Amino acid sequence: MTTADIKGPQLLYDKKDVMKEYVASDKRYDNAYTLYRRCGNSGVLLPKLSLGFWQNFGADASYDNCRAIARQAFDCGVTHFDLANNYGPPPGAAEELVGRMLKEDFRTHRDELFIATKAGYDMWQGPYGSWGSRKHLMASLDQSLYRLGLDYVDLFYIHRYDPVTPLDETLQALVDIVRAGKALYVGISRWPLKALEYANSFLRAQGVPPLIFQGRLNLLDRAVQDEGVPAFCAKEGLGLISFSPLAQGLLTSRYLNGIPSDSRMARAGSLKAELLTPELVEYLNRLNAIAAEHGETLVSLSLKWILAQKGVTSVLVGARTPEQLKESLRCVESPLDEGIELPRFPYKIF
Ligand code: NDP
Repeated sequence: MTTADIKGPQLLYDKKDVMKEYVASDKRYDNAYTLYRRCGNSGVLLPKLSLGFWQNFGADASYDNCRAIARQAFDCGVTHFDLANNYGPPPGAAEELVGRMLKEDFRTHRDELFIATKAGYDMWQGPYGSWGSRKHLMASLDQSLYRLGLDYVDLFYIHRYDPVTPLDETLQALVDIVRAGKALYVGISRWPLKALEYANSFLRAQGVPPLIFQGRLNLLDRAVQDEGVPAFCAKEGLGLISFSPLAQGLLTSRYLNGIPSDSRMARAGSLKAELLTPELVEYLNRLNAIAAEHGETLVSLSLKWILAQKGVTSVLVGARTPEQLKESLRCVESPLDEGIELPRFPYKIF
């Protein structure tokens, strides 16, 4: 079956449908065998495509549109939602919005959802509002739980590597968070390999093995692969989830002929216009042509390529519309054609 066969999501474009009480599609697990992968050697299955709430879910977003995206995801079996304390704008807004959706739409589906949040980036003023101290992590998670309206999250990440705080302090806080029942599993985001190796040993020795590593791996950024992170995760039994798998939208058909006015790049936030050099446009067009030869879109080619890499559990996509999510979901339908050669972009852009 294809995502087009799944009844329900298409109806959600219409605002009047979003206003109706949500009844989840009874077909949401029909493609279970193709949709889920085991996360490392844990007991947890994650969807091959997970949904991130970094952008498009702030206080300035249309609640109906956000709801339509989340409902579409769940209706297609996407059970993993990825958040962080600071997602918005303003920081905290995405957790508040998801908290509202959990109450209004997913109230009866809490145990079908795997909800992650993170702490470590700037969240509140003063010396405890950021980084990796025990003080920051404990306080931040309590705030996140309050905004989400949950007693626990399924997964709690340290969001970034803190070069100053002793690693043992950060890691012990993660252990204690699990022991306090505020998170079921812990994860590591954006740590260099050496620190990840240390974290893995420390956490395992404490009986709280890390579930997953979150890092950026896509056709335009293979640094974590070059460093050896996916190989390490595969060897040690950690899952790996790739954030910004579409390079914030660059690996879509949107930038083949310039910068669309409604794009993330045009909004001049996290995706700078100077990245879009003639060399990059040429490379994207080359990839797009290869995708077409294989009956793929640039989106599905890019996501399937990541899912074909050793050690990868899931691609963590963003979506501004339900249509975008629907296109991204094509990547779970079949694997990348065997023997397909994808050229590597020779310049570092992130
Ligand atoms: P993507 O690379 O998937 O980019 C998403 C953007 O690409 C969309 O907002 C949209 O932008 C565009 N897009 C998506 N699908 C399509 C489509 N089918 N056709 C055309 N354009 C499309 O991911 P994000 O950068 O949003 O990151 C995803 C998640 O990863 C985050 O929400 C977060 O959960 C996580 N993350 C974690 C980080 C960490 O430090 N651990 C850092 C960054 C992200 P447009 O508005 O231009 O249409």
